[in-house]
Amino acid sequence: MTKKKTFDISQIPPHSHCLWCRKPIPQGKLFCSIKCEREYKRWRRKRDFLSFLYLAVGFILMMIALFLIGR
Ligand SMILES: [Zn+2]
Repeated sequence: MTKKKTFDISQIPPHSHCLWCRKPIPQGKLFCSIKCEREYKRWRRKRDFLSFLYLAVGFILMMIALFLIGR
């Protein structure tokens, strides 16, 4: 007879995961290290900038279309 090793999910204490590397960390914390926090913030800034860029390009294209239609 083999003793099966079971993984009981209720045994895991409440915890969070690092927003950047997904490592389990104590609850209430967002990142496992300063490095992850920095990387995450840098990525988010880039993402925010890109979404702004897409919005701006979309707006400009719309203005061009309106200008062409209006002629
Ligand atoms: Zn991390």
